Amino acid sequence: MPLPTSKDAFAGTKTRIKKIIERLAKIHPDAKLDLDFSSALELLIALILAAQARDDLIRKITPGLFKKYRTAKDYAKTSLPKLQQDIGRINFYRNKSRSIHNCCSELVERFGGKVPDNLDDLLSLPGVGRKTANILLGNAFGQQTIGVDTHVMRLSQRLGLTEETDPDKIEADLTRVVSPAQRVRFCHLLQYHGRRICIAKKPKCAECVIRGLCPYPAKMTWE
Ligand code: SF4
Repeated sequence: MPLPTSKDAFAGTKTRIKKIIERLAKIHPDAKLDLDFSSALELLIALILAAQARDDLIRKITPGLFKKYRTAKDYAKTSLPKLQQDIGRINFYRNKSRSIHNCCSELVERFGGKVPDNLDDLLSLPGVGRKTANILLGNAFGQQTIGVDTHVMRLSQRLGLTEETDPDKIEADLTRVVSPAQRVRFCHLLQYHGRRICIAKKPKCAECVIRGLCPYPAKMTWE
């Protein structure tokens, strides 16, 4: 476990995270989940579609999709070829159609068509992994969860908040040090900073407002 175990060091990490959040909030005041939705079902569908796909493409097709399919039953009773046609612009559309179809069939059969608001039930649904479940709980149900996507993973590693590579273990590390009230906000800020500044291949360390709080050893080589 990479995180400090002594009481003082643990408190130091929490203070550093507080400062990271304050600074990132100033430069990314618009940080939010980059998907459009008006219900838990819409967010669930958008998240299934968004796996390894660009959020802007998902935002383009979801308004029409959500107009056509209003309930879990609508997705469950449609045919797979029809659904494939409706989302055919998105990569892995065959697998994603099947996931949506199976997931919504389970929602209808087991949950009266409603998206459950707890982790265990969400994880029991086809096509729903821990990242999707946590993002859903955090953004549709107001629960303070950590959804570990590619940006949250990369930045928490570079910022020295975890040494883990497994998303579940990263989530556990972050849950220990990010205050409950800030968890969803923290993830949005890391996602925006990861897209705009701390990009994967060549982070813009010289213009990074949290540079002084970042122990990433390679940051000197990017100046
Ligand atoms: S200093 Fe560099 S590595 Fe650290 S958070 Fe900023 S951009 Fe990322």
